[in-house]
Amino acid sequence: MDRIEHHLTDELLMAYASGNLPEAFNVVVATHISLCDECRARLGAFEAIGGALIDEDASVTLSEDALAATLALIDATPEAPAEIRHKLGSVFPAPLQDYAGADLDDVKWRAIGGGVKQAVLQTSDDATVRLLSIPGGAAMPDHGHNGMELTLVLKGAFRDEDGRFARGDIEIADEDLHHTPVAEHGEDCICLAATDAPLRFRGLLPRMAQPFVGI
Ligand code: ZN
Ligand code: ZN
Repeated sequence: MDRIEHHLTDELLMAYASGNLPEAFNVVVATHISLCDECRARLGAFEAIGGALIDEDASVTLSEDALAATLALIDATPEAPAEIRHKLGSVFPAPLQDYAGADLDDVKWRAIGGGVKQAVLQTSDDATVRLLSIPGGAAMPDHGHNGMELTLVLKGAFRDEDGRFARGDIEIADEDLHHTPVAEHGEDCICLAATDAPLRFRGLLPRMAQPFVGI
């Protein structure tokens, strides 16, 4: 697998650790963490700090040694027993299989135009998470964002104004980013994308289709 270049922010990891993210974002964060040793270690540190803060003896500060020991423990932790019922070698990491099924064959895709397909996953309705399948070489309509959009690549790769994103990479878009993701030639790009507000499309056709597609 290519090295993961694009990671979660500390703010997102902390919000995840403290249970303050909508379920749709939790799915994306948990899926990235399952693919990314670096973010998993940072999350472990935040959880350790959070645990230390709520500890009765609040005067205890986390020493370098304690942090190193915690990270070593995380590294040494064997796969959770729950993994056993998940399909190994699937395009979908274990946390995603709980929402999307065992693998790509289980997805009930819906065509949304231009060869692009989507499948909205069932979560609480404060945010939305969907799988997207973009044919190699195809572009998503250019758009801006009213809130936050978290996109995690599961297969293939795409490029946009912010760089190249391949399996495991996560793109964090907000009001400041207007982008046109284009899938690389060669294979379909499968992404997991969570949004907490409707996207802003520039073109008329995507805008007209928006109510039907639910993006
Ligand atoms: Zn990461
Ligand atoms: Zn976007």
